[in-house]
Amino acid sequence: MPGQFFAAILLIAFSTQAELLTDIQQLSDADMQGRKSGTAGAALARQLIAERFALLQLDSINNGYQQPFVYSSRPEKTGINMLASRQGCTYPNHYIVVTAHYDHLGQHGRKVFYGADDNASGVAAMLELAARLKYSCPVYSYIFLATDAEETGLHGSKAFIAAPPVPLNSIVMNLNLDMISQPDRRGKLYLTGARRYPALVSQLDTNFSHLQFLHHRGPGRMARDNSRYNWPNASDHGPFHRAGIPYLFFGGQEHAYYHTVQDTWQRIEPAFLDMAMQAIWQTVQWLEQQPPQTLRPYEQ
Ligand SMILES: [Zn+2]
Repeated sequence: MPGQFFAAILLIAFSTQAELLTDIQQLSDADMQGRKSGTAGAALARQLIAERFALLQLDSINNGYQQPFVYSSRPEKTGINMLASRQGCTYPNHYIVVTAHYDHLGQHGRKVFYGADDNASGVAAMLELAARLKYSCPVYSYIFLATDAEETGLHGSKAFIAAPPVPLNSIVMNLNLDMISQPDRRGKLYLTGARRYPALVSQLDTNFSHLQFLHHRGPGRMARDNSRYNWPNASDHGPFHRAGIPYLFFGGQEHAYYHTVQDTWQRIEPAFLDMAMQAIWQTVQWLEQQPPQTLRPYEQ
């Protein structure tokens, strides 16, 4: 029955969106105290991520899904990445690493920087991807990496690249998600790193009018945007890029609530979040159809 089929599709769409929003809500709850690296709030966030990894039946790479690291010696500063994997069936020795930082700015006095868009949204989308890839064996192997200490200098992703659990040349792609739930002043979400995949750009461009492509041509230069932001270094894909690993970065530009106490889950537009998740999912489905040499046409 077409009617029932349509209702089932609607139900799936709504339940996905509800779960995404629930994850964002929990990660940006007042209890999490803004998830500043090294705080009790960040530890609570890790607990939630570990519970979700276990529910998703992801494999543990390190003990308890944790990758601790030191990023400063005097004074000593430490962080803890959260990571888990799912083995693929066609190219089990080729990895797509999905990254999203879970840390944020914490509390300043009584002010809590909730960090709903930055970046509870990316972590929630990463968990949603893991859920969608659960039902049939994916083509590639996946590592889901929730990084710590991104806000203070991409330290979690640098630590992953410095001590990777798999050889760096087996990573065919870094899909980085950072601030995917808020439109910028132009109503857009941005995708960076897709220049070498014109077929993907063409498909997404047709399907998502709110998606804007930023084409990186080299350090600090952009093909289609005069942005003052240094996109290759704006988030966790930077260390992957510098290690010669291709990346695709879904993220927002600075919006009115960016790095303010107003970055709360209540301000998220569900329709925009839904669009972002669909674009990310279509991208993963496209990646799953490409052989490794298309994604990473060197060092194979
Ligand atoms: Zn961020």
